[in-house]
Amino acid sequence: MLVNNMRVITGIKDMRSVSKEARMSGKTVGLVPTMGFLHEGHLSLIRAAAGECGFVAVSVFVNPTQFGEGEDLESYPRDLERDTGLAEEAGADVVFAPGVEEMYPDGAGTVVHAPPGLTGVLCGRSRPGHFTGVATVVLKLFNIVAPDRAYFGRKDAQQCAVVKRMVRDLDVPVEIKVMPVVREKDGLAMSSRNTYLSPEGRSTARAVHKALRKAEEMVCSGILSADEVKAGMYKILNKAEGLEVEYIEIVDPETMEARSDAGANALIAVAARVGGTRLIDNILVSSEQWMVSDRRRGVGNDE
Ligand code: AMP
Repeated sequence: MLVNNMRVITGIKDMRSVSKEARMSGKTVGLVPTMGFLHEGHLSLIRAAAGECGFVAVSVFVNPTQFGEGEDLESYPRDLERDTGLAEEAGADVVFAPGVEEMYPDGAGTVVHAPPGLTGVLCGRSRPGHFTGVATVVLKLFNIVAPDRAYFGRKDAQQCAVVKRMVRDLDVPVEIKVMPVVREKDGLAMSSRNTYLSPEGRSTARAVHKALRKAEEMVCSGILSADEVKAGMYKILNKAEGLEVEYIEIVDPETMEARSDAGANALIAVAARVGGTRLIDNILVSSEQWMVSDRRRGVGNDE
């Protein structure tokens, strides 16, 4: 099927053979899994894939098994026609948009459980079963497309950790690429769910990024105690009327284990609700920031 000149594949068999053809002709196969309603965050992944792979498949599938009861499965925004146009512009070769019946012909049977240490914290605490749904659908997509590389956004840092662990533990032959968070001009992390925000909520939502900027500032000025950084962030978020903090965590980005410091390679992650909309965002402390902190504290300073 062609939508906007873009080949849209809905069948698993077709997707498998198109991907195989690309591989047989010597192309590197890239996969960008999405739930659609594409925005610049998704497009940055597609562009990265197109820059590194000869063939890029973008999956658009609102995966029911990763939604909990009472979550927004029904109302999740969908617009396949718009998505295909955007995916094509960004360099995708095909869009894989299977129906639920195609992906789960007998309902959700066999599933992938990532270790509870990874999935029972942060978002997993309020969304039990979510990461099982994610890991299962991602493994299915890997088995269907058989990509050499798959691209994920660090905005969903816990998802990245779960997928990386699954690939490692189950020996899936794919390279996982984690790309930076893409934000609106005022700092709000792009998300298909931002469309749920009222104008007032949209303005309140900026506090999430403000809190992360505050954390960055604190780390850069040498304040590395996780408790102190979190307290600084809570101060900002608690002032935002209509915003309810779900968590602020400072963790190792691979294991999701809590850290007592916000030094090099610490993931500082936030989840909050504004109105009915759940927002997540994070920053990763780089070794440069750590060095800046060290220098200011006079540690590791050779001068
Ligand atoms: P979704 O459609 O929300 O499931 O997201 C599909 C992929 O796009 C996931 O790997 C997300 O992490 C990534 N993504 C979503 N929003 C952003 C963003 N603002 N910046 C970078 N990547 C993103």
